[in-house]
Amino acid sequence: MINDEVYTIDLLIQKILTEDKQYDLSKIITAYEFAAKAHEGQKRSSGQPYIIHPLAVAFILLELGMDTDTICGAMLHDVVEDTPVTLDEVRKRFGQDVAMLVDGVTKLNKVPIFNREEQQAENVLKMLLAMSQDIRVMIIKLCDRLHNMRTLRYRPDHKQRNTALETMNIYAPIAHRLGIRAVKEELEDLAFHYLDPYAYAEIEHILEIKKEEREAFITTIKERIAQRFSDEDFLTPPQIEGRVKSVYGIYKKIFINHKSIEEVYDKYAVRIIVSTVAECYNVLGLIHDMFRPIPNRFKDYISTPKANMYQSLHTTVLGREGIPFEVQIRTWDMHATAEYGIAAHWKYKEGIQGRDKMEQRLAWVRRVIEAQQASDDVEEIVRIIKNDIAPEEIVVMTPKGDSVTLPVNSTIIDYAYRIHSEIGHKTIGAKVDGKIVSLDYQLQMGEICEIVTSKDPGKGPSRSWLEIAKTNEAKSKIRAWFKRECREENIVSGKSALDREFKRYQIHIPAEELEAFLADDLKRHHCNSVDDFYAAIGYGGILLSKIMTRLRERYIRNYKNTAETAQAPTVDPNEKARSTSSILFDDVENCVIKYAQCCNPLPGDDIVGFITRGHGISVHRKDCVNYDAAMKRNDPGEAERWVNIQWATAPQTTSIQTGIEVLGTDRIGLVHDITGVLHDMRIPIIHSSSRNLKNGNALFTAAISIAGTDQLKQLMEKLKRLPEIISVERAVQRHE
Ligand code: MN
Repeated sequence: MINDEVYTIDLLIQKILTEDKQYDLSKIITAYEFAAKAHEGQKRSSGQPYIIHPLAVAFILLELGMDTDTICGAMLHDVVEDTPVTLDEVRKRFGQDVAMLVDGVTKLNKVPIFNREEQQAENVLKMLLAMSQDIRVMIIKLCDRLHNMRTLRYRPDHKQRNTALETMNIYAPIAHRLGIRAVKEELEDLAFHYLDPYAYAEIEHILEIKKEEREAFITTIKERIAQRFSDEDFLTPPQIEGRVKSVYGIYKKIFINHKSIEEVYDKYAVRIIVSTVAECYNVLGLIHDMFRPIPNRFKDYISTPKANMYQSLHTTVLGREGIPFEVQIRTWDMHATAEYGIAAHWKYKEGIQGRDKMEQRLAWVRRVIEAQQASDDVEEIVRIIKNDIAPEEIVVMTPKGDSVTLPVNSTIIDYAYRIHSEIGHKTIGAKVDGKIVSLDYQLQMGEICEIVTSKDPGKGPSRSWLEIAKTNEAKSKIRAWFKRECREENIVSGKSALDREFKRYQIHIPAEELEAFLADDLKRHHCNSVDDFYAAIGYGGILLSKIMTRLRERYIRNYKNTAETAQAPTVDPNEKARSTSSILFDDVENCVIKYAQCCNPLPGDDIVGFITRGHGISVHRKDCVNYDAAMKRNDPGEAERWVNIQWATAPQTTSIQTGIEVLGTDRIGLVHDITGVLHDMRIPIIHSSSRNLKNGNALFTAAISIAGTDQLKQLMEKLKRLPEIISVERAVQRHE
């Protein structure tokens, strides 16, 4: 914990000169002098001159192998915030890159992180956004935090705890995700020291009293392994080193996984570094030959890397006197990734396929950001970020042996959507390790999961999946599907809106030339066809007001060679909103009808019809959100396709599928009572499930076959009268 090292520019220069890498020394010295002058007279809480802090951060970054600009950025990271120096001055003296890094770190500093929970999530997101623009901003911030943690004891008590919490909850997980092990472990140990000083002292004490014993043990093991290796052929001699586990790492094993200190096998650990992957497996064979392996303790992170790209073989074996110890085997490349993570990209630029690894590592950042954009529910955002940032995850295998990384507690639905959206939409079941499981089954580490999909092209997700899915990726894909579900309607309304605008702007494009005319816009909005484009206009993804000017200019350019003056749009007098058509479809049964899946109307509901192209009439409930939205759009071209319809006078005898959701206190016999009511009323259950919620309640959902709203009302009344029922709702459910 002692880290009151004195940092000076001379020591930094010495260190830079010993590095293999090329640095622009004069730029770094200029940055130092500039920062020293700007911070002149300012002091740290420790009483030291302020410049010690940026120097210390620069030292840590140099250790990680970061480049000249990052080190200059570190030197200058507090000048814009804490001194009269402006960003423009930094840009003039040190260039755009350094200025961008300083600006990025300054912006991160302005964000007060540890306030209310929802605020915290937003702030984390801002950090993520910053890091996705230039990851070096985040690496500087992590090192800034590391030095602040090393000197935290000079801060007032209440600040210590908040800073430590923030470090444990946000910065350490980010360092973990970026794979920067040394920074992550030191941040955790420092934070842990402030959050639970007693536990920290206890573990430190345990490690201290056994220190000599442990060191002697490790030394013997290393010698025996080296002896054995001397008979083998290696490209270069393997490096064998003893490994120290972090205090917090041991704490987690003991207090979170309820292990005794004796069970924490990897407090004794040996690491072996070799040249090739083949040598890794050779060494594994040799180790298992020399020592007895403990069953179920072998992990192959080479063929199945962790989400942060960590690769190694882990095995635990028994040494002499039956003392277990862990052996980690890896190549030098894997070692660089394990120690420096994303920073290895700078440290060993040639050695590692930098670009690819960096891309893969940033993929999770993008996932979180995309999830964030798809949602405006603050609670959900907090959940997503907590889920996605929690260090624990599982790896599940496809039947073909590909590995899929998911957060813990992920279900079949999450897995299916991670593989592919279309597989997700068409999922009807799954097999885990060959056994059939339900869709809400929570996958475990190492399971092999096979998704069973429907052959029916119209098959889609159920809204209840939104409850089952844990990842926001799956949830947003499910929601997107429901948005597309009303595509037919969206295409029609989009087309009529565009036609109308074309008329106003006096644009006449022959139908067969339309696609070519719109080609640029299709590409810009990621539409594969004109229909996609209409649909996007229909649901509001493309705003006509934003594109018409451009379309008109293009039209004049391409179609009007005699440069006519562009005419101002004219208003067609017939175009005033027509009142909704009052056509009465008395005999619905003569039409092709389909029930809209967005609202799932039942006989007895107030309904309205939409004339689709080629699929007859789709029937919506009058209180359907899509109908409501259409009325608000008040688009005459679309409005005339909405028609008044009603159920044929005789109630339909054929029954229709609908869903119910019953929420009650979790008690023995709840499901039995509910199904009993359904049985008594002779209502067939097509499929049902029940889940225990964390708050002690249980949720029972079922797809049932019902004759009409009267019967449904009756059913719901009866269910409400059962003991300890909280609510009974009608659930929108897909026809399966
Ligand atoms: Mn700072």
